[in-house]
Amino acid sequence: MTAKLIKGTEIREEILEEITQEVKEIKAKHGVVPGLVTILVGANPASISYVTLKIQTAHRVGFNEVQDNQSPDISEADLLALIDKYNKDDSINGILVQLPLPKHIDEKKVLNAIDPDKDVDGFHPVNVGRLMIGGSEVKFPPCTPFGIQEMIVRAGVETSGAEVVVVGRSNIVGKPIANMMVQKGPGANSTVTIVHTRTKDLASHCKRADILIVAAGVPDLVKPEWIKPGACVIDVGVNRVGEKVSEKTGKKIAILKGDVDFEAAKEIAGYITPVPGGVGPMTITMLMLNTLKSLKFKLGLM
Ligand code: NAP
Repeated sequence: MTAKLIKGTEIREEILEEITQEVKEIKAKHGVVPGLVTILVGANPASISYVTLKIQTAHRVGFNEVQDNQSPDISEADLLALIDKYNKDDSINGILVQLPLPKHIDEKKVLNAIDPDKDVDGFHPVNVGRLMIGGSEVKFPPCTPFGIQEMIVRAGVETSGAEVVVVGRSNIVGKPIANMMVQKGPGANSTVTIVHTRTKDLASHCKRADILIVAAGVPDLVKPEWIKPGACVIDVGVNRVGEKVSEKTGKKIAILKGDVDFEAAKEIAGYITPVPGGVGPMTITMLMLNTLKSLKFKLGLM
């Protein structure tokens, strides 16, 4: 069998188009657009490239994007004051602080200072609690797990009653996606197992999975014989395994590999996400959706 590819690059285009349309409608009816501020401290090249992509995407969907670049010497108190300013700013619906922050700043303190109703990354403990409660309590699911669930749903994969096995228990992927899939409601209602480095027999758990979500950060961890024929395999892993020269730009670029042996797995699975071009493009997309949702909550449209 050759698996159906679930392409994040295509689903991203669908969702961004839907967001753009909704932004236009809200602007016409209510005279406002979502406001997103991106706070970048210092000039870490990887952070600059992430922030640039977020800004470009926000512009594309018609948001009011505020780019706030701060010197690496900014004090923790001044950064907290800046967040307070945006918490109180009515035109801002989402606040992003690009990580990592310089060592003299306590990241946890800064992230926890963001108003939970503007925490479109979904990492504030209040939003983690809301996610755990589920249903109408949920405001902003963290973006990567939110993207994973959306891909599964849009691919038409049945989640109700499905055995979902999640490899990895991080706070940004493994735990939240497991929590989302076990909730009572559409796109969920699954029976969920989380496995990690202390799990006794990883293979036997993976083999049971109707939906296998792998977020370990270990290239080719999941072997083809661990995959149930016809299963939906979501490979979250992004591992740099070398470098090559880009045909487009002539510049050196990283060779990326997922956590699943893709070439062999695609002959067994029913659905599979590629790396790159699978889960990756979904994260910023769902960040935009969370920012739109934030405005809709404020306007009483949700
Ligand atoms: P993380 O914080 O390092 O967590 C990895 C998890 O995988 C841990 O729970 C670890 O178990 C488990 N694990 C590692 N090796 C294992 C093994 N051999 N067997 C079983 N479990 C194993 O990583 P993360 O932040 O969740 O990210 C995971 C991967 O997803 C990375 O490659 C990352 O780059 C990628 N990622 C992609 C996106 C995106 O595409 N947008 C977003 C986020 C992350 P223990 O807890 O026991 O150590």
